[in-house]
Amino acid sequence: MNQTTVKAKNHAERAHASLSASGASRWLACPPSVRLSEQYEETTSVFAKEGTFMHELSELYLSYYLKQMTKTQFNKRLKQMKQNEFYNAEIEQAVQTYVDFATEKMNEAKATSKDPLILIEEKVDFSPWVPAAFGTGDIILIYGDRLEVIDLKGGKGVKVSAVENPQMRLYALGALNNFGVLYDTQKILMTVVQPRLDNISTDEMKVDELLEWAETIVKPKAELAFKGEGDFMAGEHCRFCKVKATCRARAEENLKLACMDFQKPPLLTDDEVVEVLTSIDQLMSWAKDVQEYALNMAMDENKQWPGMKLVEGRGSRKYSDENAVVDALTAAGYDGDVIYKKSLNTITTLEKELGKKKFQELLGSFITKAQGKVKLVPEEDKRPEIKASPEADFQ
Ligand code: SF4
Repeated sequence: MNQTTVKAKNHAERAHASLSASGASRWLACPPSVRLSEQYEETTSVFAKEGTFMHELSELYLSYYLKQMTKTQFNKRLKQMKQNEFYNAEIEQAVQTYVDFATEKMNEAKATSKDPLILIEEKVDFSPWVPAAFGTGDIILIYGDRLEVIDLKGGKGVKVSAVENPQMRLYALGALNNFGVLYDTQKILMTVVQPRLDNISTDEMKVDELLEWAETIVKPKAELAFKGEGDFMAGEHCRFCKVKATCRARAEENLKLACMDFQKPPLLTDDEVVEVLTSIDQLMSWAKDVQEYALNMAMDENKQWPGMKLVEGRGSRKYSDENAVVDALTAAGYDGDVIYKKSLNTITTLEKELGKKKFQELLGSFITKAQGKVKLVPEEDKRPEIKASPEADFQ
């Protein structure tokens, strides 16, 4: 952990983009990461583009459901969206799962209160706690004594929990700031819907608790981040930091893990083995980030790393013209059995093509799951513990 001040240029202009709700878990843990990251340009991944498309598609369905457009307008727009490169049955199914959940919640709000506030893709302002910051809540519902924030997560890599999730809390805070005075809100509900991982996660807070968190945790950290001050702190949150490959604090933290101060005797104790096991993932992820960064710099910017050079990896053989191969083999008298192999599409491909519902309907009874490879993980892992084999027990 280093006490450091990073000089930032042009604070006011950049701050609103930097102190985002989606980056909050990072800047709350490591405030100076905001200014340090400014030297790197924003890049968009294909996953982010896919996520944006899912939000746009769900917004279309929900706008139509809320009668914010005519049927003709809806059909025209839907037809256009179906031409999008990211549209397929699996995405459609995932969006429908989210839309079903959202409309159910909207109906609940309407049934509970005479004058519910139902908003989609609403800009919320949490600048009283985070300088110049705002965000967009996918769905905000205010009814009775409740304020609900619902967020669609399109990813299928890492499960996102709503529990103690600062992004969700900041959206709720913004909604409370924008509309709270109009309603007698007491309870906050925050839900993440991640349909592609069958994940729906909700957290609940009282308004007082949320405001206390905002005043005592968010405000001071946001002020430090805005000024480029505070302590660098490496951890899980580094995964989404733009400087993760070259950050000194992260490197030092990982090198500390790699140079554990082991005691004698010559064999590691059980506790030392566990210490290594619990650090391996973080170490490997850091090493991979450094490797990728150095390779990209060498390839894209001709960067010369002292004592290193670029070489070509082992290539694999492939046909230059598949039709010519078939013609040559057929002309030589070989039949189809020799030339072609028949194979089924993978489960993932078929599920994507058919959509989850149709896939389950047609093929669900033919899917079995092989037992996963046994792994040793920390006790806190949510997966149930399995027992070692009786033979191992006996030994
Ligand atoms: S890599 Fe981690 S420690 Fe370094 S600035 Fe980013 S969040 Fe902070």
